[in-house]
Amino acid sequence: MQAGAVGEAGTVAAPVGDASAPRWQRLLADAIRDVDELWRVLALPADLLPAARLATRDFPLLVPRGFAALMKPGDPADPLLRQVLPLGDELSSPPGYSSDPLHESGCGPTPGLLTKYRGRALLVATGACAVHCRYCFRRHYPYGDLPRGARWWAPAMAALASDPGCHELILSGGDPLTLPDGILAALIRDAAAVPGLTRLRLHTRLPVVLPERVEASLLAALTGTRLNCCVVVHANHARELSAEVAEACARLREAGCLLLNQSVLLAGVNDDPATLAALSERLAALGVIPYYLHQLDPVAGAAHFAISDARAIAVHRELHSNLPGWLVPRLVRELPGEPGKMAVG
Ligand code: SF4
Repeated sequence: MQAGAVGEAGTVAAPVGDASAPRWQRLLADAIRDVDELWRVLALPADLLPAARLATRDFPLLVPRGFAALMKPGDPADPLLRQVLPLGDELSSPPGYSSDPLHESGCGPTPGLLTKYRGRALLVATGACAVHCRYCFRRHYPYGDLPRGARWWAPAMAALASDPGCHELILSGGDPLTLPDGILAALIRDAAAVPGLTRLRLHTRLPVVLPERVEASLLAALTGTRLNCCVVVHANHARELSAEVAEACARLREAGCLLLNQSVLLAGVNDDPATLAALSERLAALGVIPYYLHQLDPVAGAAHFAISDARAIAVHRELHSNLPGWLVPRLVRELPGEPGKMAVG
């Protein structure tokens, strides 16, 4: 994603001192955004700091304090930290890495609505996230071009209503759970009024990096609809799945949401069978089905996370031999112009 600051594209962030705001908004407003502060909090090596400052000029740092607390101080190789750690590696990219690796620009009928695949459509519901993942394939997405204001999504709903073959609306971003409850509930209500839609899918990292978001008012918005609700959390490592995350997942499940997980295969984070097996086991304990394991999208600035296909296939085979089939996520890659995710191997 682009600048991605909380507050973009219709999102309301609470000022740090606004005691009347929901707790999750206050925690988000208080997240770590300053590179020097991250270095202080996690006692990171000073020699990495100058390049980190440069790397955050185009894609700022954002880390909730609760997520940072799960990281090991003094260790830049910590797999949780590595996902959010700005590095000098981001400043140059090899050939083939681009700002729009999936060619999403202009592939929808109306701004913010992507209709890449038959039968479902994706709405970029906001440009805001609760964390900035350095591998994000939308790190350069032009969120600033999205429409804003009351019911900005009306043209998207009209486009969905004109396509009776579209049965699923995917809310993505950015992260749709950064939307305040009132906006999210209105968006879901309008989606439910589209006759052809039967399913609502939310792709979000908030239950993992800011589990306080899963509060009663959110659950009411997700369940007070005729649409079947599926929440795809994005966890890449078992250590992200703390006791608080487990409670958030339990609340979502008890509310009737189907829970899936998708991960990105990331060098230095989860590129070995034992780490991925531990992730699947932990997800199973939380009632979350491992769904996809993505090969990295070649986005400029993220090449240091890439794994060769040969290595990815070998890791995946080993995973298969150690887990029951339903705990083995499908190894896939997204390719522009293809009718769906493509199996790797
Ligand atoms: S939360 Fe999702 S959209 Fe936001 S930076 Fe991370 S991967 Fe990208």
